[in-house]
Amino acid sequence: SMNYGNTANPNNRAPYAKRVIAVTSGKGGVGKSTVSVNLSVALAQKGFKVGLLDADVYGPNVPRMTQVADEKLKWNDNNKIVPSENFGIKIMSVGLTTPSSDTPLVWRSSVAVSALIQFLEDVDWGELDFLVIDMPPGTGDIQLTMAQELPITAGVIVTTPQPVALDDVSRAIMMFKDINVPIGGLVENMSFFIAPDTKKRYDIFGKGGGEETAKRYDIPFLGKIPLDMQIREFSDNGTPPVAMGDKLQKGYYKNIVDNLL
Ligand code: ADP
Repeated sequence: SMNYGNTANPNNRAPYAKRVIAVTSGKGGVGKSTVSVNLSVALAQKGFKVGLLDADVYGPNVPRMTQVADEKLKWNDNNKIVPSENFGIKIMSVGLTTPSSDTPLVWRSSVAVSALIQFLEDVDWGELDFLVIDMPPGTGDIQLTMAQELPITAGVIVTTPQPVALDDVSRAIMMFKDINVPIGGLVENMSFFIAPDTKKRYDIFGKGGGEETAKRYDIPFLGKIPLDMQIREFSDNGTPPVAMGDKLQKGYYKNIVDNLL
């Protein structure tokens, strides 16, 4: 169960948030942003106040996944940035700072770090039960800075069951451990595929890798999410499946949230 605050870290750039969840992965494309978005919506559906900060400077996909990609940055009278809002969550993304969604973010990591600190300090998040951060994949400056500047309550690691993904995930786990970020647990995405016509199950990326890794590093296994064409379709269209009321998806995320809290 989740602690309040990371006592190892005295810095807190987000005193308005009761708990900070950092979602990360070893490598890109495993569904980290999808999980960040749906986890945030699932928490909001439980009645929590949730802010989602998209800190993935290399692939800021949260605006598209939540249908706020066309919004421009706006400031309120107190010179604070107003976060976008959709599906019951507040949203801010490094992607909203570029003129269009296909503009690449060519930032030195020091610039990215300053931008993210500004999003922590200058966005009018209000009081939050959870600040969920969609971190860039891998281990680098941004991850380190976030861990130093925030009392992260729980690091959540997303992986597929594939051995190459798991090698990278091991590094992410070691990094969290090295910098004293409490690990909330591991989510295995794209765990299996059920053919819609035959109902036959296929373990496309292998089987059981996430659970084994969680066991090996003695961290909680939070749950599995299957590979499902609707997840991809809904995400591309900007509607998180959990917000759609998709019963199956809600079930998977309910498990993950229950195991995390
Ligand atoms: P990451 O943040 O790790 O780079 P994304 O969340 O952007 O990964 O997901 C990459 C792509 O895979 C997206 O198009 C997304 O819709 C799709 N995707 C993620 N999880 C699933 C899933 N369980 N089933 C089907 N498609 C998925």
